[in-house]
Amino acid sequence: MNAYLRSVIENVKAKHADEPEFVQTVEEVFTSLEPVVEKHPEYEKADLLSRMVEPERTFTFRVTWMADDGTWHTNTGYRCQFNGAIGPYKGGLRFQKDVNLSIVKFLAFEQTFKNSLTGLPIGSGKGGSDFDPTGKSDGEIMRFCQSFMTALHRYIGPDIDVPAGDMGVGTREISYLFGQYRRLRGAWENGVLTGKDFASGGSLVRPQATGYGAVYYLENVLKHEGEQIAGKTIACAGFGNVTWGICKKATELGAKVVTLSGPDGYVYDPDGVATPEKIDYLVEMRASGRNRVQDYADKFGVVFYPGEKPWGVKVDICMPSAMQNDVHLEQAKQIAANGVKYYIEVANMPTTNDALAFLMAQPGVIVAPSKAVNAGGVATSALEMVQNSERLVWTEDEVDQRLHQIMNNIYQASVDAAAEYGLGYNLVAGANIAGFQRVADAMMAQGIF
Ligand code: GLU
Repeated sequence: MNAYLRSVIENVKAKHADEPEFVQTVEEVFTSLEPVVEKHPEYEKADLLSRMVEPERTFTFRVTWMADDGTWHTNTGYRCQFNGAIGPYKGGLRFQKDVNLSIVKFLAFEQTFKNSLTGLPIGSGKGGSDFDPTGKSDGEIMRFCQSFMTALHRYIGPDIDVPAGDMGVGTREISYLFGQYRRLRGAWENGVLTGKDFASGGSLVRPQATGYGAVYYLENVLKHEGEQIAGKTIACAGFGNVTWGICKKATELGAKVVTLSGPDGYVYDPDGVATPEKIDYLVEMRASGRNRVQDYADKFGVVFYPGEKPWGVKVDICMPSAMQNDVHLEQAKQIAANGVKYYIEVANMPTTNDALAFLMAQPGVIVAPSKAVNAGGVATSALEMVQNSERLVWTEDEVDQRLHQIMNNIYQASVDAAAEYGLGYNLVAGANIAGFQRVADAMMAQGIF
């Protein structure tokens, strides 16, 4: 490996040994950049790569809130403003009990390349809290969001940092956060957050955007292979907003999502999550705050596999859409043995690095990386920012057409970048290189700091 690249990766490993997810993502992305670093010795002179792994700013804050029974609780809030070279920091907030600095930093680092790939002017950030929304009442959620925003509001703004949703943070949470921001700021600045409810300035199609975008990307991959989406079976994980969007669009196009998963196990529905009743039920399950996928099996009479993951099911396409490191080497081997041809990552970093390398080395398997596949969500957030700053509201069709075009562009940019560096049809390396290039150009142009 290129000596400079190797030394930066080794430094990150040594310095951040206590942040395994962050180290994992840096290794994955930077390994793809070898031909680029070889071709651009000026990056080493400017020590560009060391600057790219150091967030511009990261902070934690105290979030204290009152439960319905009058007891007080304190959680940690996080925001990592990773890279602002091409636009205001932009990225979601994750409320989940396991959230820690390593997870926030890995997500913010990935966001740098993802946001760049959209071609829109958005820098990268990520944040959240170790608050566990499971089983919390609406009042508890509202008070938590208000306390969270009271601490965060000074450090964000429509031209500074624009948070959005992620796991555990949907329209309801974003709107509570926005209400508190507006109260504190004393101004109508709805461009400060994206994923708001429609009446507060949210964009049409934003709730569906990540799932729809993933399917639009998938269609590009299938087209390359001379295949069509109609008639295909898809294994998904999770049952949240992203999986819901995939089910909706896949059904509309004649494909069938046959698995869903949760922390409790997975369900297999051979008829597909393919009727309005079933698809709507995902929203209901998420809103219940129970965080159990078994409810789907109970309601629709399908089989529930407690404590298991869906990756042993024979399907045409796997779309891991739940969370990081869901697919380990063992599951990757199972996926390859089942003859799955399309491995389309959707959740951020759903595959361990060894599993990803294994799948990419299988001659019959096409791998697409999450930072490209799920970029439709943040891209539509950027479209929400445009509407907010222009004081306009676009129709569903206008937003959807733009989203579709952006996904086609992301796919093509990835294909072209890999081909330019002699890597063939490599969607993983292509996305890393294309995403890197734009941020690198801006950082080089702006001088060293
Ligand atoms: N959390 C989402 C992501 O991973 C959305 C971010 C946004 O819309 O800013 O990209």
